[in-house]
Amino acid sequence: MSASSAKRTIMEPAREIEVCREVDVVVVGGGPGGIGSALAAARSGADTMLVERYGHLGGMSTGGLVTIIPNLSDISGKQQIAGICQEIIDRLDAMEAADYPKKKDWGSTDEKLVNHYINSNLAFFYVRDDLNIGRKRVLYTVLTDPEIMKCELNSMMEEAGVNLYLHSWGVRPIVEGNSVKGIFVENKSGRQAILAKVVIDCTGDGDLLQPAGAECDTRMKPGMRISAFAFPFWIGNINMKKVEEFRVAQPEKYAELMQELGRRGGAAFYLKDLVKYHDGIVWFHPFFPSLNQNDINEINRVELEGRRKMHLSYDFYRKNVPGFENSYIALSSPQLGLQGGQRVVGEYVCTERDMVSDEIFEDTIAVFPDNDNGEISARHPNVCIPYRALVPKKIDGLLVACRAFSSEYGFNEYFNLIPHCIAMGQAAGTAAALAVKAKIDPRKVPYRTLQKRLLQQGVILPEKIARQAGNGHA
Ligand SMILES: Cc1cc2nc3c(=O)[nH]c(=O)nc-3n(C[C@H](O)[C@H](O)[C@H](O)COP(=O)(O)OP(=O)(O)OC[C@H]3O[C@@H](n4cnc5c(N)ncnc54)[C@H](O)[C@@H]3O)c2cc1C
Repeated sequence: MSASSAKRTIMEPAREIEVCREVDVVVVGGGPGGIGSALAAARSGADTMLVERYGHLGGMSTGGLVTIIPNLSDISGKQQIAGICQEIIDRLDAMEAADYPKKKDWGSTDEKLVNHYINSNLAFFYVRDDLNIGRKRVLYTVLTDPEIMKCELNSMMEEAGVNLYLHSWGVRPIVEGNSVKGIFVENKSGRQAILAKVVIDCTGDGDLLQPAGAECDTRMKPGMRISAFAFPFWIGNINMKKVEEFRVAQPEKYAELMQELGRRGGAAFYLKDLVKYHDGIVWFHPFFPSLNQNDINEINRVELEGRRKMHLSYDFYRKNVPGFENSYIALSSPQLGLQGGQRVVGEYVCTERDMVSDEIFEDTIAVFPDNDNGEISARHPNVCIPYRALVPKKIDGLLVACRAFSSEYGFNEYFNLIPHCIAMGQAAGTAAALAVKAKIDPRKVPYRTLQKRLLQQGVILPEKIARQAGNGHA
């Protein structure tokens, strides 16, 4: 290394750290993966702690303003993801904080119905082209209210007996040899240690992986969804009727304005993707390409550029687009939109081959509909996820149940979404509790026992697996 490129370093003095808790399972990160993990572990009898750096749960699905839970059904309309994810939706639904196509409409090709959902608050996610029959179909996709969701998630944790540790960063795993024994956290009380029999990394970014000695894959390809940050924001108090009238009456003028906005560096695309009483609010989510989303300089760049873009776009819309005159910036997402980053190399690495293999793995813990991949989706509407994709190679005491699960970028692009992470979390939390009870490493948890427990919790698994696991009945 040349002298000019050498980094200056200093030694951090060793110090004694207070052990603030000793638990069975510690879940680090309270996003979709962390929610599933913590609820499943606690409900399965493990003394469980959930550490979250912000003051609320939900991760990107609340603080990131990503209020869309898509692809719960496959293209035929058959529900494939349920369990804790469905439970959250049911609770939000009971509070009128969730919108979705009616159950009887899932899979429908009826033109009137399809058009109804295209014209309702979120055209794109409610409907997909079924290339097998050359027609559009209605899917099971849910829109949520992020603030009610934050409240409801807290209640669910409380009911399950999860110990919440908010405003606390998981900064480093406690490692002995090849085994993770807990984590160091930092918060306003200082640096503390939490000892645990199993640690589940649900940070989304895989913060614990490299310090734990786990092998990681950081490769990504430019141009993919996961190779970009996003800076989501809401603009509110828009007269949508007036905007639509303008778009319909003067399409060329509208297109011209959008081109001008694009030339000035603004965000010209938004979705009316919110629950019905959010009338007059739209969601922007401009993307910022980056192949290094775990780099603090990149994170800072996007935070600054994102805010600039938001301000510029808002100003332009308000001055130029009828309907936006009285609008205001309702919210910029408290959690920056990270989509890619590193992924653990696990006992099994999911690849694009798995998207066309139709393989039902012996250790299948979830089924994910694939509705977004054109011809491939048409021929292979679902993929199975093996438990081994949550288990890092060689490192004991650690599971990964978030978008950093073991997968190549081509697979991760389609299956790191909110319902998927909740489902992986449910499997990881259940497995962690089984491991603690049996005093074994999570890697050794018997697949059949895990699957049986998941079926009992309302998780949908392939018929073949359900038969082998005895349909989940104890
Ligand atoms: C603009 C955009 C649009 C998207 N659209 C959709 C969509 O329509 N539908 C969909 O399903 N998905 C969508 N996604 C993807 C989806 O939001 C994520 O893939 C999903 O939220 C991943 O869940 P996760 O649990 O892995 O991570 P996250 O949601 O990122 O949650 C991680 C949690 O861990 C916490 N955390 C992180 N590091 C630490 C630490 N060191 N210590 C303590 N806490 C920590 C965070 O604060 C956060 O709460 C979109 C993403 C973006 C950015």
